Amino acid sequence: MTITQEAGFCIDLHCHSTASDGALSPEDLVRRAGERGVTHLALTDHDTIAGLKEAGTAAQATGISLVAGTELSCLWRSHTIHIVGLDFDVADKDLNAALERQNDNRWRRARTIAEKLSKLRIDHLVEKATGKAGGDVPGRPHFARVLVEEGAVKDSAQAFKRYLGSGKAGDVKGFWPSLEEVVQWVTRAGGIAVLAHPRKYKLTATKLRALTGDFRQAGGRAIEVSTSGQSSGDLGFLAELCRRENLLASQGSDFHFPGAPWCELGSIMKMPDGLEPVWHHFRQPVGIHPAV
Ligand code: MN
Ligand code: MN
Ligand code: MN
Repeated sequence: MTITQEAGFCIDLHCHSTASDGALSPEDLVRRAGERGVTHLALTDHDTIAGLKEAGTAAQATGISLVAGTELSCLWRSHTIHIVGLDFDVADKDLNAALERQNDNRWRRARTIAEKLSKLRIDHLVEKATGKAGGDVPGRPHFARVLVEEGAVKDSAQAFKRYLGSGKAGDVKGFWPSLEEVVQWVTRAGGIAVLAHPRKYKLTATKLRALTGDFRQAGGRAIEVSTSGQSSGDLGFLAELCRRENLLASQGSDFHFPGAPWCELGSIMKMPDGLEPVWHHFRQPVGIHPAV
């Protein structure tokens, strides 16, 4: 693993703070990025931009260039896909309204999971699961912990096996909008839509090409070629996909918490040559000097 540098820049365009499921506050995250030599950072919390203001203040103090970001959930052929939005107008009214709806969708899913598990007769299940999520919208792992605590199952593995795993009652899919819709939110707010970590969806190569094609049709402009936890084979495959679809290339660590060296701020495998970096297309391009 190498720290990606382009003419002295270290660019990380995907990470999470306590505004979603990250462990560090936006301020601490930016400080850590600075210590790790990151020069350009996009904070991309799940379906929110709530951390950007605090991150922006910290970035100014640290000398980091902060790029507006978020990571949006959507559906494509019944798969949950993540779209990173970069360099958009944070004041865009439609985007902010859409983010509100995304948040409502998360809560709706949590309530539905609780309803599906009502036969377990656990009082205040949503509230208890919310407690496990530190006040945030609970997901299946949080429900699993409550089930263990309430003695409905002996451990989390059993909770998934009986109630929450694939095909079980509590396996409720997210109420997400379509891929096309989400890409439009980003582009209409003046930003660039990036297909996040394409290998994480466990799609066949054929399906991934279909996804990338649909994404581009919808107005998507970049894919994450370099993200953490990838093999060099993945990197080569994604670089090829990027070239073939004529998309811009992005990179980001997807950092969530300290102590995971394979997923650390600024630690990203160097992108193969011959790709057009997404940051050359930001409103204030990184690494391109205006002609004199
Ligand atoms: Mn996450
Ligand atoms: Mn993701
Ligand atoms: Mn992420």
